[in-house]
Amino acid sequence: MIELDGSEGEGGGQVLRTALSLSMATGRPFRIGRIRAGRSNPGLRRQHRTAVRAAAELTDAGVEGDELGSRDVTFRPGRSPRPGEYSFDTGGAGSATLVLQTLLPPLLRGGGSYRITVEGGTHNPSAPPYEFLERSWLPLLREIGADMDVELHRAGFFPGGGGRLVARVGPPSSPTPLVLRDRGELLDLRARSHIVGLPEHVAERELATVQAALEIRDDRLEAVDHGERPAGAANVLVVEVEFEAVTEVFTEHGRRGLPAEEVATRASRRVRRYMESDAAVWTHLADQLPVPLALRSGGRYRTGEPSSHTRTVLDVLRTFLDVAPEVEVAGTGTWEISVEDGHAA
Ligand code: AMP
Repeated sequence: MIELDGSEGEGGGQVLRTALSLSMATGRPFRIGRIRAGRSNPGLRRQHRTAVRAAAELTDAGVEGDELGSRDVTFRPGRSPRPGEYSFDTGGAGSATLVLQTLLPPLLRGGGSYRITVEGGTHNPSAPPYEFLERSWLPLLREIGADMDVELHRAGFFPGGGGRLVARVGPPSSPTPLVLRDRGELLDLRARSHIVGLPEHVAERELATVQAALEIRDDRLEAVDHGERPAGAANVLVVEVEFEAVTEVFTEHGRRGLPAEEVATRASRRVRRYMESDAAVWTHLADQLPVPLALRSGGRYRTGEPSSHTRTVLDVLRTFLDVAPEVEVAGTGTWEISVEDGHAA
């Protein structure tokens, strides 16, 4: 039984989600204590509870401690992930994208087909938005052999949730190691402003500001008005930067009191920092690649300074698999991360 301390390293839900993915893939049971112990709302939140229960359903796992607020979870998978159709609901605005990011990597090892529906938030703060999965993360998983895609059936925003994502998974093709050192030429820049229960001018002002800052073409701007929702207003600005080898997705959440122009300026600043760097992969994507790489093909990528999320994922990988990921300085402000294809340690 692998023992993990959920408060170590990054100390959020990442340790739990990474352990679930790796336990599903390897069949190795684990126990994690002190889950999110240092957070203001410690223990399992909706997103984490759904991830635990969904991982258990796919692998007939025995689970202890999977209630909301639990700080101690034991997970014993009973089998490799069973192909089929599944539907999970976070029961609120728990992140549906993070639940899918837990369930999909272990399926890179299997041979079956799956259809997985997850209801909850699709555009939450502190989580990848749907566009990130669709344009950034899944295309790279397809490069290493995945047959996976995801559709947005309905967007769900914090705090109301109520979104729906549907992932389709087929048997993977032969593994191809990922080599992502250079991002290549810039092909496209796009921006989309989602609004819920807000006047159209909020989206228009954001798009105009981001267009001026990043020189985006008129026909690459999109305002998506989701109408009124009972949970109230929401606003999310998503900027997609498509290079030949990778697409990066930047997100900024609007909130009451923060002018639309400021939301757009913050997003533009982050996009510019990425574009002015030599990194192929930016901060968030960098912590979401090690698990798929270790479970399928191995590979290497250039990124900025590794975050605590990335270092935490690499630590959990070493615990479950016989891998020795390397993090090396590749230039000024650039690091190269390499992860080999792993087997249960
Ligand atoms: P945690 O903080 O442990 O719940 O983990 C959050 C996960 O969501 C990490 O993998 C982050 O990289 C990822 N994440 C947070 N914000 C974004 C964002 N704006 N775009 C993409 N991924 C994100």
